Amino acid sequence: MIDASALRHLVGADATPCRRALTGEHGVALPPFVDHHVHLHLIDAHALAEGGIAGVVDLGGDPVALAQLPKGAMPHVAYAGAFLTAPGGYPVGRSWAPTAISREVTDASLHPGVSGGAATAVDEQAAFGASVVKVALNADAGPVLDAVVLAAVVRAADGHSLPVVAHVEGDGMTRRALDAGVSALAHTPYSETVPEAVAAEAVALGQVWISTLSIHDDSDRARATRNLAGFANAGGRVLYGTDLGNGDRDVGIQRDELSALDAAGIRGSALIAALTDPWPLDHRAHGIATFVPGDIPTTLDDVPAWLARATVVPDEELLRDDT
Ligand SMILES: [Zn+2]
Repeated sequence: MIDASALRHLVGADATPCRRALTGEHGVALPPFVDHHVHLHLIDAHALAEGGIAGVVDLGGDPVALAQLPKGAMPHVAYAGAFLTAPGGYPVGRSWAPTAISREVTDASLHPGVSGGAATAVDEQAAFGASVVKVALNADAGPVLDAVVLAAVVRAADGHSLPVVAHVEGDGMTRRALDAGVSALAHTPYSETVPEAVAAEAVALGQVWISTLSIHDDSDRARATRNLAGFANAGGRVLYGTDLGNGDRDVGIQRDELSALDAAGIRGSALIAALTDPWPLDHRAHGIATFVPGDIPTTLDDVPAWLARATVVPDEELLRDDT
């Protein structure tokens, strides 16, 4: 038997000892896990559920293709649609970024139908069912939206009740996103150190940061880890995300990302919270759960490797020990 109170002490109240109805296998039930940053056009999404991921947020793809995905299939998909960027800005022209996945915004216009207008680009993503609007602010890779156009994008998104998520890279880009009221960062800032006061400002704004620590090496990774630790320490809401599709990795939960989050101090119940946050939606998926087979971890250090064994199962397949 699994000691439910020891388990909850380590990973929080959402964890419930259970067994699988069909096999009798013991383990732990958790809410469904979400990878908050993927690119579906670059991966085989079918393998995600077996690898523990029940939901994904596509942060840059073809809005037409994304709108045509079957509803209710696994994994559950929320998406941004196309990247909104400056003319010639990132990711325009990248080999992994077909034309269909970017919109070049040239004008702060909030009138519908203006060519290159902020509202036109946002309205299009909303019409294709986007749950969030993605902007690229990568000053290390070309021109970026200026403060006026960026503010217009945020206003247009707000008109659809959609949050805006930014890829910030290069000096001053975290600041620019914050000043415009951008509500999420697609990557923990890694190209610049975020001062404590700026992290506190991001927390006060209610900004959420998607981790993506494990895509980096060396100094970028160390900087991102410190930035995320500071943000979390200040009370910031951290989301598990891997940028899956970037680089060649197995599809599913990324043990390296779990370990990296743990190293940034997002441990135990905080790590579970980062995995099970429904952002940008307002509720978790129904009818599915995470099953982690076998013995429970005995120390916080064991939690990342334990979570890496997760798989997605229909909720009714799990018989909870306390019911
Ligand atoms: Zn990405």
